[in-house]
Amino acid sequence: MPNAVVLGTGMAGFGAAHRLRDEGITPVMYDKNAYYGGHTMSFRYDPGFVFDIGPHISFTKDERIQDLFADSVDQLYETIQINLNNYWRGYWPQHPVQLHLNGLPEDVVVKVIADFVDERQKPERPITNYDDWLVASFGSTFAELFPKQYTRKYHLTSAENMSTDWLGPRIYRPSLEEVLRGAISASSPNIHYITHFRYPKQGGFVSYLQKFVPLGDIRLKHELVSIDPRSRVLSFSNGLQAGYDMLISSVPLPDLVRMIDGTPRDVLEAAGRLACSSCVLVNIGIDRADISKAHMSYFYDEDICFTRLGFPHMLSDSNAPSGMGSIQAEVYFSDKYRPFSGQPSDWIEPVINDLRRCGLLRDRDRILCSNAMYLRYANIIFDLDRAAALATVHGYLDDLGIAYCGRYGDWGYMWTDESFKSGEAAAATAMENLAARSGPRRVQSA
Ligand SMILES: Cc1cc2nc3c(=O)[nH]c(=O)nc-3n(C[C@H](O)[C@H](O)[C@H](O)COP(=O)(O)OP(=O)(O)OC[C@H]3O[C@@H](n4cnc5c(N)ncnc54)[C@H](O)[C@@H]3O)c2cc1C
Repeated sequence: MPNAVVLGTGMAGFGAAHRLRDEGITPVMYDKNAYYGGHTMSFRYDPGFVFDIGPHISFTKDERIQDLFADSVDQLYETIQINLNNYWRGYWPQHPVQLHLNGLPEDVVVKVIADFVDERQKPERPITNYDDWLVASFGSTFAELFPKQYTRKYHLTSAENMSTDWLGPRIYRPSLEEVLRGAISASSPNIHYITHFRYPKQGGFVSYLQKFVPLGDIRLKHELVSIDPRSRVLSFSNGLQAGYDMLISSVPLPDLVRMIDGTPRDVLEAAGRLACSSCVLVNIGIDRADISKAHMSYFYDEDICFTRLGFPHMLSDSNAPSGMGSIQAEVYFSDKYRPFSGQPSDWIEPVINDLRRCGLLRDRDRILCSNAMYLRYANIIFDLDRAAALATVHGYLDDLGIAYCGRYGDWGYMWTDESFKSGEAAAATAMENLAARSGPRRVQSA
């Protein structure tokens, strides 16, 4: 039986364990945290508020993953029709704004439509970055007022400095008819790549991991500090060491390559060019539930400190005491573009002030719970450095036979289902690597 090691106990780690189970292998899974689940963990705070690590909902269209997650919570999940909205200069248009211009200032709507029509009449130009894509898709007024502004808050860099390979279905490109309909009518159709989502009835998003946990021999509070790829030995900050035959890692790439003995300078430099956002999550619980009709709201204005809000009590009754409501705010930073300093709790008061300014919190609301958490790794930033830097880092790990996976191993814009499948794929790669090293008989016997 090969000694299979998985670094990380998030969705990707458990995806790897799930694939290895098919081969009869139980991996040893190491995590630096005192809890399993990585970014899918949920925490409970007095007097009974549950907050995930950032708003987490499952909207996968992959039926196999839907079934796996549903089985993991014994079919005890909610299916909810999503409602998203936006806040812009005191207005609350539905999401996506390009389909819901109705109600915005008349001169803005006229300018947006005029530019949109104008853009459609221009000859096609090459798209070299996200900025080009936005202007070609929406015209310059809409692009500047909405997505470019949001980009600076969420991705912490300019649209000119971003590629387009992350877009997929994320941003809807409307027809002129759809834009006009949304400008004239207050009830234009909701078009979004997410229509419904599922969420566990109890325990927060982390409940989706319940049935996966026994697939691994989990060792928490094991922070990896170095890897000797030649002797295949891992060292942890608690002084322990462990060997491995196959290694599957969901550790963020910049940390991983720094831990590998003998990583060449060009690989370290490439890893240093990989950009990611960090996030301060501010969780607030209050004494009423009618805070918002939307499950999530996007904030464009640069004088509002948060970029997104989620309302966890709307995902499951068990996320808040009866009749009470919760708000989770995301404030973004990036080591490369807007370094974080200070304490996460420094952001509680600014978030509360901005919630009052946009009318979500009222003066008479009683705040029953408030806390803040810093997420070192949040969203991968698809800046123009990413593709080349990533090829260098991944090439190096491939040469060493270290299989990587997950949002921070693949370094992609991946949701939980994709991270899980990435873990499965990495486990398959690790088995192939082992077979190539030790011959087919050994893997068959595993
Ligand atoms: C704010 C936010 C909102 C999101 N919303 C959604 C959503 O609504 N729906 C959805 O499907 N997805 C969502 N995602 C994406 C989702 O969280 C990820 O796709 C998924 O959780 C990534 O899993 P992972 O296993 O790749 O990474 P992680 O969960 O980060 O797991 C990596 C693990 O490695 C461990 N580790 C790191 N370094 C070391 C070390 N040195 N030694 C030992 N262990 C180490 C970490 O502790 C962690 O447990 C969201 C993400 C964020 C940030």
